[in-house]
Amino acid sequence: MISVKNLSKTFRDKLPEFTVLRDVNCEISKGEVISIIGPSGTGKSTFLRCINRLETPTSGQIFIDGEDILSPKADLPRLRRKMGMVFQSFNLFNHLSIMQNLCVGPVKLLGMNRTDAEQQGLRLLQMVGLANKADSMPDVLSGGQKQRVAIARCLAMKPEIILFDEPTSALDPTMVHEVLTVMKRLADDGMTMAIVTHEMDFARQVSSRVFFMYDGIVYEDNTPDVIFEHPTRPATQRFINRLRNLDFNIESKDYDFLSMEGQIRAFLANYQVGMPRIIQTLRLVQLLTDRLLPFTGPVDLTIDYSERNKNIYMQVVQHNYSEPILNRDDSANAALAEFHSCCEKITDEQQDDARLLRIKTNVVS
Ligand code: ADP
Ligand code: MG
Repeated sequence: MISVKNLSKTFRDKLPEFTVLRDVNCEISKGEVISIIGPSGTGKSTFLRCINRLETPTSGQIFIDGEDILSPKADLPRLRRKMGMVFQSFNLFNHLSIMQNLCVGPVKLLGMNRTDAEQQGLRLLQMVGLANKADSMPDVLSGGQKQRVAIARCLAMKPEIILFDEPTSALDPTMVHEVLTVMKRLADDGMTMAIVTHEMDFARQVSSRVFFMYDGIVYEDNTPDVIFEHPTRPATQRFINRLRNLDFNIESKDYDFLSMEGQIRAFLANYQVGMPRIIQTLRLVQLLTDRLLPFTGPVDLTIDYSERNKNIYMQVVQHNYSEPILNRDDSANAALAEFHSCCEKITDEQQDDARLLRIKTNVVS
């Protein structure tokens, strides 16, 4: 239904120029529910706004039902009518009653007669649980109610796809659920939807696919299970596991290891990691730096803490070395044995001229 090819968008109105979308490629089929997640500033809103041409892409192609909406010949008003958009900030017409909000589009743009539009409006208000508010003005409604009206108003235009841009981000936490429930109902009814959201549980439940946007592209496009349970690419893993990291570049054995220990301690304590695990992490670092690493060249050390599953990971790159460091059969080496006993998982592999170690530490208490 929607096919996006090599879409790019560079903002040139302000200097310096800023490329938000570098090369976006994706397909959305009829009936799919796509959640779009990713750190802020990665172009999720810009992407939705390009799809319905609120924004003009710099290059690339967007096909809606096979029609290129970027072509000068495209019938934009008709193409836009196929797409509804729900914004973070509702955008209701505040001088019109709820019912008038639901009728103005169908009457003016679709040529529906007033009675039919009102009947439809009432049916839609029932669907979003607000039939008793038909004659109210928007400003007496709560945020969650306004957003449900905005969804009903969108449906009144009989769109083929609805684009949602963080529909619950501006709401009080107590009102998020009522809006998500309405959206879930739409998904169950087979509505095609693309939803930019930070509600991960919701995304996981309703989506057929999830796009993780990062660095101006759809960086990972996968099923919710893969994205949320075992994402395949590094930036997705960092985002999903809410990894906080601390990096060190150790040039030689003369490095200030005492200062490094202090920083690791403070970093983990900051995330309420308990003392036994802090001590274990420091011990692992000490075994590495005192006993196990050959220091044939600089060492890059990263400590990762996952706020999601509370795991502590380490990544070590020993440059100019090509022998196993941890995965060696060296049972006489007490340091190696102690190291292994503190880790749940270790990989030790070659990467160009360096040895790359990835470690998941044991949970101790
Ligand atoms: P997201 O929705 O993922 O947070 P956005 O698409 O809103 O990201 O924006 C991505 C980046 O593009 C942001 O850094 C934002 O400042 C910039 N940006 C958005 N709109 C404009 C604009 N009209 N002019 C210049 N920069 C913009
Ligand atoms: Mg946004």
